[in-house]
Amino acid sequence: MKWKGRRQSSNVEDRRGMSGRGKLVAGGGIIGLIFVIAQFVLSDGDVSVLEQLQDPGTSQTEQRELTAEEKELGDFTEVVLADTEDVWNEIFASQNMTYNEPGMVLFSDAVRTGCGNASAATGPFYCPADQKVYMDLTFFEELRTRFGAKGGDFAIAYVIAHEVGHHVQNVLGTASEVRRLQQQSSQTEANELSVAMELQADFYAGIWAHYNQEYLQEGDIEEALSAANAVGDDAIQRRVSGNVNPDSFTHGTSKQRMEWFMKGYRSGDMNQRDTFSALLN
Ligand SMILES: [Zn+2]
Repeated sequence: MKWKGRRQSSNVEDRRGMSGRGKLVAGGGIIGLIFVIAQFVLSDGDVSVLEQLQDPGTSQTEQRELTAEEKELGDFTEVVLADTEDVWNEIFASQNMTYNEPGMVLFSDAVRTGCGNASAATGPFYCPADQKVYMDLTFFEELRTRFGAKGGDFAIAYVIAHEVGHHVQNVLGTASEVRRLQQQSSQTEANELSVAMELQADFYAGIWAHYNQEYLQEGDIEEALSAANAVGDDAIQRRVSGNVNPDSFTHGTSKQRMEWFMKGYRSGDMNQRDTFSALLN
């Protein structure tokens, strides 16, 4: 992705390099792996998961200098967030609506959020309570080494755009409507609604990519698809248990995630965002 020298968002808070004593990192080995995966699967806005984690706020905070590589990665995420701001400001304005830009927090180890405390093992997530996207950038190393996704900056960009997609759902009221429906539905139906939410966030990530085509480079879409493929629930479950159980899917299969991203990317058309009737009928 071509990003150097472009506008960087001022809505990013960099809390990397701040670390406390009470690190929340799970141990290595298979238990650690299952923990990481479970946290990721449950991560999107799942407050209960976050609340189970220790409170990092009680520990001593130390500040360390970021490396040049870390600084560059930070600059990159600021450009991506700025791109999402431009796209969504314009789409909302075309509907005579105002887009409230979300914040983004970069962190390492552990972070205090409006949705409770989170550890790096939680994976990237959006917190509706404080309207911020939380990104632990070491997650992407994990995505590559543990989940077999292609590395690369565009995988990170896709995940940011997906989390911003959850913010769009929050602003448009989709999120609260889905929560209301989930409260009066069976577990299976509630899971289907969660999947539809996730796929719509992938579609919104595709919309963002559609309007930023001029900055894309060869291989970028493949990187995004590879990341979407690696984090599909079926791919994650298969790696953990050796079999898949569709009823407990909350993010959609790898194939569905790639399809909805591509639908947004190819069309750039908000009218095609209805993942709900596509999935529930
Ligand atoms: Zn999501």
